[in-house]
Amino acid sequence: MQRSAEEIKALDRRHVLHPNVVLADHARGLPMPIMVEGQGAVLRDIDGKEYIDAIGALWLANIGYGRKELAEVARRQMEKLSFWSLFWGYGNVPAVELAARLAEIAPPGLSHVFFTSGGSEANETSIKIARLYHVRRGEPSRRHIIGLARAYHGVSYGAMTATGLETVRQNYEPYVGAFDHIPSAYCYRCPLGKAYPACGVACAGELERKILDLGPQNVAAFIAEPIHGVGGVITPPPEYFPRIREICDRYGVLFIADEVICGFGRTGTWFGIEHWGVVPDLISAAKGLSSGYLPIGATLVHDRVYEALGQPEGPGAYFNHGFTYSGHPVAAAVALENIRILAEERLGERAVEMGRYLTERLRRAENPYIGDIRGKGLMLGVELVADPATGEMPADPNVGRYAEARCREHGVIVRALAPGNIIALSPPLVVTREQVDRIVEVLDEAVRYVFEHPPAPAR
Ligand code: PMP
Repeated sequence: MQRSAEEIKALDRRHVLHPNVVLADHARGLPMPIMVEGQGAVLRDIDGKEYIDAIGALWLANIGYGRKELAEVARRQMEKLSFWSLFWGYGNVPAVELAARLAEIAPPGLSHVFFTSGGSEANETSIKIARLYHVRRGEPSRRHIIGLARAYHGVSYGAMTATGLETVRQNYEPYVGAFDHIPSAYCYRCPLGKAYPACGVACAGELERKILDLGPQNVAAFIAEPIHGVGGVITPPPEYFPRIREICDRYGVLFIADEVICGFGRTGTWFGIEHWGVVPDLISAAKGLSSGYLPIGATLVHDRVYEALGQPEGPGAYFNHGFTYSGHPVAAAVALENIRILAEERLGERAVEMGRYLTERLRRAENPYIGDIRGKGLMLGVELVADPATGEMPADPNVGRYAEARCREHGVIVRALAPGNIIALSPPLVVTREQVDRIVEVLDEAVRYVFEHPPAPAR
């Protein structure tokens, strides 16, 4: 017997613990849709209402929903070999094929791949490999990991501790030891009170300061998203990562690029860091790797790191790290097909073209409450302000959340990022011009509305 929509909603309230929600609000019945179908950039909920997904679920639905090719590949692989692990040197064919393909599309030298189930695990792996690299090279005191204040790297303990955003970390102490943070390259609201380009990218210099404070002999790695996602779609200036790379090289510190959002065409290139012309030592990837069709992540390892790990003697010669689902053959086969589609349909180029179009349309709307539009490709952020001339924060930073709710009512899903006045836009890369027009129309109206009709203060 099939359950009705109302029964499903009641069971959801009773049994499902949702991520990132006030649990009491959910139990009382938040008006959040339960999705049942997706095609391209369009979703349909359990009540039959349609939405344009302007956030690609969690920045990840790069090839769009409902691609039969992926279902077919998954079905074939499940029938042939549903699972076999990579532990102890065993193998399976899709994992081998996917690793080889990733080595082809990665920045030069990143030709070794460790598979995970998602982004947090990829970052845990990158961090552990960075520490292991120094152990293997006879510098076991290099343990510190330096990250950025507005970074988001995941919710497992290492990834959460690497995360700079207090909202993500709070209430979960004690954190893992030997993690530090430096200010982000947030030019629109410079944490150092400077202005680009006169600043000389002083925020990159903060890395050197931190390394010297800690002692280079104690520092393992620096980790950063090429563009902060959850932290506000913050895009560093062109000189930033070249300076970071130089500093890392000067002090023997590894550079980990967290490409969990930026990878796989979202910013227009295979990997976001390519925009800065820099080659990291380790890359964490997930999300767009499978466009979310199945959970899979990866750590890409540079040859020079691999060489140290691969020495036959000494502590750590046995690489003691692995998740049950590392190299899951069905997820790997699906990711491979996803990458084939991204390449064949040139979806990176499309991200650039549609990102430009979306930005232009937003500018043309001349919305008096939009202070900054930033990002690359189809990874965009719109910062809402009281006055674009001064960048003054809105009186109520939650305006973005109100706008998000109003957009949803009007059939467009956007996402407000902390502190509440930054709207993220990251639709599937297959989004059409008509859909972009609609996204802009709905968002523009919603933003004006929420500024001009602030909700009555709660009593
Ligand atoms: N890194 C970044 C940059 C992310 O945006 C995310 C997820 N939003 C993660 C890591 C964590 O990935 P996951 O949720 O798959 O563990």
